Amino acid sequence: VAWEKRVRSSARIRSPNGVSVLVTGAAGFVGTHVSAALKRRGDGVLGLDNFNNYYDPSLKRARQALLERTGVFIVEGDINDVELVKKLFKIVTFTHVIHLAAQAGVRYAMENPGSYVHSNIAGFVNLLEVCKSINPQPAIVWASSSSVYGLNTKVPFSERDRTDQPASLYAATKKAGEEIAHTYNHIYGLSLTGLRFFTVYGPWGRPDMAYFFFTRDILKGKSIPIFEAANHGTVARDFTYIDDIVRGCLGALDTVEKSTGSGGKKTGPAQLRVFNLGNTSPVPVSELVNILERLLKVKAERNIMKLPRNGDVQFTHANISYAQTEFGYKPKTDLQSGLKKFVQWYINYYSDGKKANQ
Ligand code: NAD
Repeated sequence: VAWEKRVRSSARIRSPNGVSVLVTGAAGFVGTHVSAALKRRGDGVLGLDNFNNYYDPSLKRARQALLERTGVFIVEGDINDVELVKKLFKIVTFTHVIHLAAQAGVRYAMENPGSYVHSNIAGFVNLLEVCKSINPQPAIVWASSSSVYGLNTKVPFSERDRTDQPASLYAATKKAGEEIAHTYNHIYGLSLTGLRFFTVYGPWGRPDMAYFFFTRDILKGKSIPIFEAANHGTVARDFTYIDDIVRGCLGALDTVEKSTGSGGKKTGPAQLRVFNLGNTSPVPVSELVNILERLLKVKAERNIMKLPRNGDVQFTHANISYAQTEFGYKPKTDLQSGLKKFVQWYINYYSDGKKANQ
């Protein structure tokens, strides 16, 4: 059938390294950039995404169109659809899975907790259930999050720091993902590499994230809420530019050891790794707004809220020495230059009549 043909042709490998990757969440912000980068270097890439409407689905469709032009096909489906995922593995021998599909966002977890359990816990388990039974098993690189550090205030965060105090259900499900990974590695020999991303931003970004809706609202002359924890100092984030994250994902993928299991059985010790992927340079949210004002040449109307918000942590700051040692991870983009690229994209993308809604 035509559908199978598209799956095969998207996953076809042009590079000598023989890598073919299933990217879940490929119509998402990070997934689009990662898929495009893999395809550019000649790897086989197939996307999987359920195109949910957590944020503007037309933005996901536009990312899909962008990927289609580069030869990446995105299968529309849910990671919980075990039969579909099995079918994809029947058609293509994937060497790797980059698992980025998830319900993201900290606040939305209070509105729709079930969607986090569905995608981040059940979905991850279902995906691993399929992967464990494949012969040979694919190696898996998946997105965890800096949010696992929760209420830990010892900065910079290193991978060995405590992660037992999540501040949101989102964080709790990401932490659960790390523990689920541990069991699949231990029992079935799956090779698993978790990447704790720190506040990723850039072109094609997520409309629910502050830098995105601040840009939209500053341009509209709307006031922007800036949440600051009273008496606890500054709220700051280790904003990490998308191209640096993509380099980190590829670095992790290129250094995975093969799984030591096949057909659901483990044959030897397999790899389980978890890395921070951050920028090592936290910036206060107020400074983020200063930079946006300069780039947009519009004064922001700030609505300072002297309150912490439920689910938010105050400060994030990555120690990246482990990723640096293992695969030479080194972020190259400071917030000013990264936001410049985001703003250029934003103005260009929304100038041709598209509405900047969420
Ligand atoms: P995103 O929401 O843009 O991308 C996720 C994609 O997964 C979406 O396109 C969505 O439609 C899809 N998806 C969700 N549930 C699915 C399901 N059950 N089956 C199939 N597809 C599904 O988010 P993003 O910013 O690109 O994040 C990618 C990954 O990185 C996520 O796992 C997220 O938790 C993690 N992460 C992101 C950040 C960040 O700052 N962007 C920070 C830390 C961790």
